[in-house]
Order: sequence, then C-alpha cells, then structure tokens
Amino acid sequence: MKWNPDAEAAIQKVPFFVRKRVRARVAEEARQTGKSMVTLADVKASQKRFLSGMAAEVKGYQFDVCFGPSGCPHQIGSSESLAERIEQVLTSADLLAFLKSKGIADLKFHHELRVTMTHCPNACSQPQIKDIGIIAAALPAIGDEACSGCEACVTTCREAAIRLGPDGAQPLLSVDRCVACGQCIAVCPTGTLIEAARGYRVQLGGKLGRHPQLAIELPGIYPETAVIDIVADCIDIYKARSRRGERFGELITTQDTEQLARRYENVNLAPGKRFGR
Ligand code: SF4
Ligand code: SF4
Ligand code: SF4
Repeated sequence: MKWNPDAEAAIQKVPFFVRKRVRARVAEEARQTGKSMVTLADVKASQKRFLSGMAAEVKGYQFDVCFGPSGCPHQIGSSESLAERIEQVLTSADLLAFLKSKGIADLKFHHELRVTMTHCPNACSQPQIKDIGIIAAALPAIGDEACSGCEACVTTCREAAIRLGPDGAQPLLSVDRCVACGQCIAVCPTGTLIEAARGYRVQLGGKLGRHPQLAIELPGIYPETAVIDIVADCIDIYKARSRRGERFGELITTQDTEQLARRYENVNLAPGKRFGR
C-alpha cells in the first residue's frame, strides 16, 4: 500500500506509541475499500474511528520488533522464533483481564505493558524506555586464524573497540567499549574475529511520562530460552505488585534485577559484561 505525502505527514503526527497500530489500521481500511494509495482523508477517517473506540483496541500489552528482519543491514541474524514465543507469553498472561481486574474505568494504551525487540544495538524501537527491551547481541573474540591486517574491522567498529596488534600480530579488542553489534565479525575476511557469544541483552523498567527513567540492563547476554523465562518472570512481578495499572518501571527495583541476574547467571553467555547502567 502506498501513502501520498499528506497522508504520510499526518501519520507521523500520531503519538509514536500507537503510530504503528494506527498505520496498520489505516492501510487495512484503505485496502478494504479497494484503494492502492492512502490519502489524508483516509488517515483522518480511520484515526477518528480508532481514537473513539480506543478502549476496545486495548489488548493489555504492546509488542513491537524493529524492522531488522525486513532487510536492515545492521541486523544480527537472530532467532526467527523468539518474537513469536514472546508474543505467546504475553498473550497467555491475559494482561487485558489483569488490567480490567484492577478496576481501571477507562483503559487506555498507556496502561499496557510495553515490550520491544531490536535486532541490533542501534535499538531503533527504543528498548531503553520500554517495560521490557530485548536487544540482539553478538560479542566478538579473537580466534586462532591469522589476521591479514586489512583493517576492515577497525574501520567498521563505531566504538573504536578494535585496533591492530603490533607488527602483524593479532588485533586487540577492548571488550569494555564493545556493544556486541557483531559487525566486525561479519566483515573479517580471515575468520580471525569469532563469536564469543550470540544471544540477547535484556533491559527492564524504562519509561517516559511524568517520571521518565532509562531501563536497567541485566549484565551479560542471554540465550533465547532464558529471555522467554525472564519475560515470564517480569510479568509475574508486574502482576504481583501492580495495584492500579502502574508502569512496570515503577514496580521493579534494582534488587529485582540483581535477583534476576543471579537466577540466570548459569546460562549467561557473557557473565559480567555490562552494556548499560
Ligand atoms: S535496531 Fe538495528 S537491525 Fe533493527 S532496524 Fe534498527 S538498525 Fe536495523
Ligand atoms: S561487535 Fe561491534 S562494537 Fe564490538 S568490536 Fe565489533 S564492531 Fe565494535
Ligand atoms: S578484519 Fe579480520 S583480518 Fe582484517 S584486520 Fe580485522 S581481524 Fe584482521
């Protein structure tokens, strides 16, 4: 479905946390009327219907994924099933029924639990301000294959985390600077740079609103199964403590994140590695 410039400009003014949903709705409604191009009138008509029926649209959670799998060159080849499994956990938690049980008279999108997954540390879908943020990660290490000194890794790394070793020796990696984007591994022609860990970083409790805060990151990199379990644990914490639909970030504490880190330390693929606060 194509969008004319006026329609595109109008959709960009929709609040970012519902823009994706409104955009999909507008496109679908235009398609149903046999159109191949969305116009400003289509946006206005759909938006009006959407906003007037907002309560019926609330489903208890929002889950989005960056557009990495659609061909973004930065994406780390992460699991195709993870997003599906996260959606299953969110669906089975029946967060809509939970929110309704809290007696909130007028349910709105801001009551929903927000979860996002990005396919690289560029973090386009803003995991730092979501209740649960999952970031694909590929951490490099120096392997046994000889380095050719081509400098592809040095020029690729935006964090200045790699430099060449002296006199043709193996390159040197500053793990503290590395954000596990995996780009250096992808460009190394000799296989000198290898994967030390591939999985996901996890950030918890970020939010905007009256009292904004960045998410707290669990140290390390976690495999898919652990990510699913962590999401389920977070929902348990949320349900146990939320009295009137507070954001998860108001409910989770540093002690909780430390406890979660300890619970999953035996499967942590990069123990002790810190990417965020
Ligand atoms: S987060 Fe990374 S993979 Fe996803 S869209 Fe952004 S740059 Fe691409
Ligand atoms: S993984 Fe990314 S940040 Fe880390 S050294 Fe390689 S290119 Fe740099
Ligand atoms: S990309 Fe690989 S071969 Fe080239 S300098 Fe870096 S480690 Fe050496």
